[in-house]
Amino acid sequence: MSTPRTAVVTGSARGIGAEVARRLASDGMAVAVVDLDESACQGVVDDITHAGGRALAVGCDVSDEAAVAAAVERIAGELGPPTVLVNNAGIIRDNLLFKMTTDDWDAVMNVHLRGAFLMSRACQAHMVEAKHGRIVNLSSTSALGNRGQANYSAAKAGMQGFTKTLAFELGRYDVTANAIAPGFIETDMTAATAERVGMGFEEFKAAAASQIPVARTGRPEDIAHAASFFCSEGAGFVSGQVLYVAGGPRD
Ligand code: NAP
Repeated sequence: MSTPRTAVVTGSARGIGAEVARRLASDGMAVAVVDLDESACQGVVDDITHAGGRALAVGCDVSDEAAVAAAVERIAGELGPPTVLVNNAGIIRDNLLFKMTTDDWDAVMNVHLRGAFLMSRACQAHMVEAKHGRIVNLSSTSALGNRGQANYSAAKAGMQGFTKTLAFELGRYDVTANAIAPGFIETDMTAATAERVGMGFEEFKAAAASQIPVARTGRPEDIAHAASFFCSEGAGFVSGQVLYVAGGPRD
């Protein structure tokens, strides 16, 4: 890679985000490992530094405007201007509509949509100045609708519209915006869903795999690979796309 880049990966203390952070570091980027609890980010930072990379643990609630501004300023100062951003932080608060509380709705909207908005707005200043940027937003196959996820599916569909608008607005500065819509990926999030529906994780994964054309569930590395492509220097003519990484086609 010609110019060293600084990447911000939100929600990267574990799960998909952690794997994306490690992958972008191995691609040569300095990586800000951002999550709610700064100490929880240290393991991923250590993985990256032990492998010869550069990383910084940053505690930040992505839905908190002041915290996001402070985090981005700190990252710019300590690692360099953030010109790569992966909006990955996410939560689920699943329930059927009639049982879903307003707090369940607001919490999910705030982390996914408000968080991606605040982070993207803060980082785009650095991208526009550098005349280079790569934004990747985590959507989901749930954007197509999923029982028990009125809040989450609305947020994940919203991420797709948000992505396409960023692609229109920021393209002239060589800033691309793309979305990855994962299917079933083995993380704490899907383990929590298995628990909610009263199934063991292995049984739950097997049931999901039986519906997936490639006959397996996904792993964080599957998403990290797609993120690596979208964040690469060579992907500058790919923008406003939604890539379903789900082991098969989606409408
Ligand atoms: P995960 O294992 O639950 O990890 C999510 C991470 O986000 C956690 O480290 C969490 O921190 C962090 N986070 C939550 N709220 C935050 C906030 N306000 N500010 C900063 N960080 C916050 O989830 P995952 O499965 O890796 O999912 C990552 C992304 O992919 C999410 O956007 C998710 O919706 C999406 N996705 C996942 C799947 C899947 O099958 N796993 C499928 C489609 C899409 P704490 O640990 O402190 O809570």
